[in-house]
Amino acid sequence: MFHYFDNAATTPVRTEAAQAALEAMTQGWGNPSSVYSFGAQAAARLKGWRGDVAAALGCGPEEVFFTSCGTESDNWAIHGALELNRRRGRHIVTTAIEHAAVLEPVRTLERQGYEVTWLQPDHQGNIHPDQAAEAIRPDTVLVSMMLVNNELGTILPVKETAQAIKRSGSSALLHCDAVQGFLKVPFTPSALGVDLLSISGHKIHAPKGVGALYIRRGLKLPALMRGGGQENGLRSGTEATGQIAAFAAAARLGAAAMDKDIAHMAQLKSYTLGRLAQEVPEAAVLTEGGAPHILPISLPGYKSEVVVRFLGDRGIFLSSGSACHKGKPSHVFATLKLTKPQRDGALRISFSYDTVREDVDALVSGLKQARDQLFASLS
Ligand code: PLP
Repeated sequence: MFHYFDNAATTPVRTEAAQAALEAMTQGWGNPSSVYSFGAQAAARLKGWRGDVAAALGCGPEEVFFTSCGTESDNWAIHGALELNRRRGRHIVTTAIEHAAVLEPVRTLERQGYEVTWLQPDHQGNIHPDQAAEAIRPDTVLVSMMLVNNELGTILPVKETAQAIKRSGSSALLHCDAVQGFLKVPFTPSALGVDLLSISGHKIHAPKGVGALYIRRGLKLPALMRGGGQENGLRSGTEATGQIAAFAAAARLGAAAMDKDIAHMAQLKSYTLGRLAQEVPEAAVLTEGGAPHILPISLPGYKSEVVVRFLGDRGIFLSSGSACHKGKPSHVFATLKLTKPQRDGALRISFSYDTVREDVDALVSGLKQARDQLFASLS
């Protein structure tokens, strides 16, 4: 028995998704490109799965391109947009709190001579709608802004940024990393006004190793990989039908239950806030954010890695920041105006539709024990 609070890092695969993968791998395992009937059946199923993901996302199936993960989708969107706009300029706008899957490719482009405007959040981790508007120039070719920050749960002003790009008359393309937003906050790509949008399977109870890039109808994004012409010629490679089947099942079920799941996670978040205020009042809430599934807190004076290990030994799993940073100090927390003890003690609690109050009770009593038993290392 354990209590899992690291759903922003990855989620357990839901049974229906695993079953869909098993079925795709053991029964309908034909190559969708094969011309005989067994292949054609696989192609028909693939069409259905694309339709499921598109319906969950609220876009057309021809706008969904399967990839291997959110990181691949982000990299493809960024490099593809720059290639498409290569004659129009070399200025990029992004935020200082993007995930490494956007941050690192943009940093590399900056070293290669692109000019980058990094939008800085306020002390609560919010980016304001007018910040992007002020940064957009005639030579801006790409704006990349995440929908939900993976460490803070803050919701970024993607829609307002799309409107600002339109108003400016700039030909900048807008990419949105919606890996943490998909099925956690309601949106559609067209309502946001984005050109490109990334999602990932393992954050929505599908397996790791599958994601998708939304490419707005009519946008001629260059191919990521050339080869056999799969994914409408843009991302060649035999389709990962097992993972895609699971992704589609998780997206379908997640979309059907989205309103209920969001309400459940939001209730758990406020229950956690209430219990913490009563039982561990020294735990500071870094920001209440807008997303229902992420709650960043800090136990000032306690090293977060020590607390994470202490709780882990008791079967309670949470993160000391984004798991993708492998223990390196978080660039997101570094942008907030936190004291050193607050920053060092930062913890991320993240919920899922299957988290229950008993899990929260175990977490709160674990944090209480950590506070009482660990030496405060105030510095
Ligand atoms: N973008 C965000 C906001 C994320 O939280 C993550 C994963 O943590 C990614 C991108 C990367 O997704 P993947 O693990 O599917 O490559």
